[in-house]
Amino acid sequence: VHRWGSPPIAEDLPVPRANENEVLVQVEACGVGMTVLNCIRGDLADDPVLLPRVPGHEIVGRVVAAGPGVGSELVGRRVIAYFYLSCGRCMQCIAGDESRCRDLAGWVGVHRDGGYARYAVLPAFNAIPIPEGIDVVDATVIPDAVATAIHVCRRRAGIGMGDRIAVIGAAGGVGIHVAQVARLCGGDVVCLDIGDPKLFALAELGFDAIDSTDFDEVGRSWKGPPPDVVIDLLGTDPSLTWATASLGIGGRLIVLTTFRDRITSLDPRRVVLGELSIVGSKYASRAELMAAADLVGSGQIVPVIGQAVESGELLDLHEAIREGSVIGRGALRW
Ligand SMILES: [Zn+2]
Repeated sequence: VHRWGSPPIAEDLPVPRANENEVLVQVEACGVGMTVLNCIRGDLADDPVLLPRVPGHEIVGRVVAAGPGVGSELVGRRVIAYFYLSCGRCMQCIAGDESRCRDLAGWVGVHRDGGYARYAVLPAFNAIPIPEGIDVVDATVIPDAVATAIHVCRRRAGIGMGDRIAVIGAAGGVGIHVAQVARLCGGDVVCLDIGDPKLFALAELGFDAIDSTDFDEVGRSWKGPPPDVVIDLLGTDPSLTWATASLGIGGRLIVLTTFRDRITSLDPRRVVLGELSIVGSKYASRAELMAAADLVGSGQIVPVIGQAVESGELLDLHEAIREGSVIGRGALRW
């Protein structure tokens, strides 16, 4: 990326070197979703001093060299990248809440080069080993899509056995894995999304799926008790309004979208009388990345990759993601 907001340009780069406390990773695949498009657009940071930049934070690759200060035990291991450049020393980091780091140095693919290149250098702190035997393209869902889902379902929503869950935007890269993790936590999951191909994909995974083109219609076709948890990956006024209006007593609304300038109204009486909780959920911890790797490695979560492409087709994949036509995650295969 030579200018924030412009599409990436293909060019030859030298193989970077791992400096102190860093590892050199031979990138095998890199996940592609809305977040990397936001990064390229300059949504996370748009300082020109950061340019040019290799984007891509959902890295899967093998450590081929370790810089000074890093033990050799990581060399040869397959790793995934932890997205946040957390300090590892503040109280939040020490508590294992690295996504709340008080001294955050930025993000992989924004403040340092990422996985849209064959080699990437990562801080050793950000290189999380995963079990062998997971297909590298499948593994691209682990560091963001599945890890975020674990953070949402277990940590933020506290989903328990028998909870009724509605996932809005359930066929997207994060949504389709959130739905699976919610079910694994014991939730009775209803998926909301738009269009037959997406609803069909959700039904194939065994979910009840409702078309959410019109949220009034969703209310009418909802069967059984109201949701205990609504996980909103759409972030529109109609989706958030439906969520707060529909939650049962003690319900929790989990918000994951970060679009700018989105304002929605809130009925405080409804929040009080329903004892509703409105909760934000931001990425995941390194431990949750490890848990995500175990769930994918053991087959408990099915990775859903709608399109895996070579680097020459990457811009077409970006376009398909922007249009919303990719089911699940996209991936770049090196
Ligand atoms: Zn920190």
